[in-house]
Amino acid sequence: MTALLDPTDVPKPTSPGHGDAFTRHMYSLRYAPGHGWHDGQLMPLAELSLHPATIGLHYAQVIFEGMKAFRQADGSVAVFRPRENARRFQRSAARLAMPALPEERYLEGVERVVAADQNELSDHPDHSLYLRPLMFGTDVNLMLRPSDGYRFLVMAFVAGGFFGDTVEAVSVLVSREHSRAMPGGTGDVKCAANYGPSFVAQRAAREAGCQQVVWLDSAEHRWVEEMGGMNMFFVRGTGDDATISTIPLTGTLLPGVTRDSLLRLAARLGHRTEVAPLSVDQWRADCASGAITEVFACGTAAVVTPVGTVRDRDGDWTVGDGTMGPVTAKLRRGLVDLQQGRADDVDGWLHRV
Ligand code: PMP
Repeated sequence: MTALLDPTDVPKPTSPGHGDAFTRHMYSLRYAPGHGWHDGQLMPLAELSLHPATIGLHYAQVIFEGMKAFRQADGSVAVFRPRENARRFQRSAARLAMPALPEERYLEGVERVVAADQNELSDHPDHSLYLRPLMFGTDVNLMLRPSDGYRFLVMAFVAGGFFGDTVEAVSVLVSREHSRAMPGGTGDVKCAANYGPSFVAQRAAREAGCQQVVWLDSAEHRWVEEMGGMNMFFVRGTGDDATISTIPLTGTLLPGVTRDSLLRLAARLGHRTEVAPLSVDQWRADCASGAITEVFACGTAAVVTPVGTVRDRDGDWTVGDGTMGPVTAKLRRGLVDLQQGRADDVDGWLHRV
């Protein structure tokens, strides 16, 4: 017997945290060889009944996505660039030897949940509906081989700001002991196995008095890759002349949809953009000389989050004056205005439901 998880059992905080204020429905779709994708349905959010030998639980044949739906100025709700996430989901599936979920079926699941639960999203400008598609191997079999059967689920929660409702610069620890990804590994896809092993480094960051962890390349421990679950940007210069720089997609970091959106947005706002590797030593030296004026991280959950201070084995440094800089603020506002339908959607990034 599956118990329904009634979100009304839990009083909803006025500013929801990240990942606990679940909405009432989920979408479920199954895959079986010979049947393909079938049995798609919207259903009440409920516990799953799983055999303890479910293959996904043991061998991490599990992938997921993260997108947000935003209340628009006209009162409707739109998902931001969901086709990009559908394509990344297909790349993740291919890497994990899972069947491809057609883009339209992915979108159908997302649309059904948003349509059913959009009334749970308030008009609060900092709130959004975070959508979490998930797919895992369902075979009950402990042979070391890919599952034959799969389940695709979409659930949602109401999200406030990832770091609370105000945007303050975060402090980061450069992780020297742990690596997130290696060449030939899975760093460029969104699979569950990338995240569990990162918790120990995140905990080390907290113990060092920092909020987030910065990942370096695993071969030389020299090159900046990304930060927690976010991509990183470095601003050189000031005002309209500022150059917006980010790290190349080397195969060991996740190609973020927000990263891509900001690169395009910055160019449209007249900034020079650059995709170039950056060593930690250079990062530190360029902050000391003032060549790097601002640093920020970006992702669906964190939107655009300024980086204020950096802690590394040889000491700390501050980026700019340690608070959110004007270029970061401008890009953040530009992105949020697009997501909430206050700017011209020239690229067709809003998917109305
Ligand atoms: N890097 C990692 C490791 C992430 O988990 C995420 C979040 N999906 C990102 C970057 C940012 O990606 P996106 O902008 O698509 O949310």
